Amino acid sequence: MFLACIGVASCQTQPAAPKAEAKLVGAKGQNPYYSRTDTTKLHVSNAEWKKVLPESVYLIARTKSTERAFTGKYWDFEGIGTYFCAACGNALFRSDSKFASSCGWPSFFEALRPNAVKYESDNTYGMVRTEVLCGRCEGHLGHIFDDGPEPTGKRFCMNSIVLDFEPDPTLKSK
Ligand SMILES: [Zn+2]
Repeated sequence: MFLACIGVASCQTQPAAPKAEAKLVGAKGQNPYYSRTDTTKLHVSNAEWKKVLPESVYLIARTKSTERAFTGKYWDFEGIGTYFCAACGNALFRSDSKFASSCGWPSFFEALRPNAVKYESDNTYGMVRTEVLCGRCEGHLGHIFDDGPEPTGKRFCMNSIVLDFEPDPTLKSK
């Protein structure tokens, strides 16, 4: 018999979310780390990200916030193309791995490349989950669960705000 006991107090602490009056308004053109071709891993401080990212992207990517369900721009979006990290431009998912999920966040059954994303265990909020991070900038994207459809059985539950969609007519429709 094995009794799991999770000490909430021992969980890693999260960085405090900035106050709403934080006045940064970034734009992609001002983000020198954004590239859809450069796959070099980034090691950029949160202070620097705060200067170059729109606040909504910063809050999710760098402070692990979550957009409210059914509010993001991609949860029921069916465009054919590629999803890139909104913070750094790393290619993350293709529309052919996206599936209709009732959870209220864009959901995919696999990443575009195995190292497009990385994983970390997340024991916050009294739950045992696996966090999904961008493989290039290590920005928070969402979580992965084991209740997805075939062929992988995985559900990448992502935040729309940290995804950038680019249409690609050369990709086949589902
Ligand atoms: Zn990224």
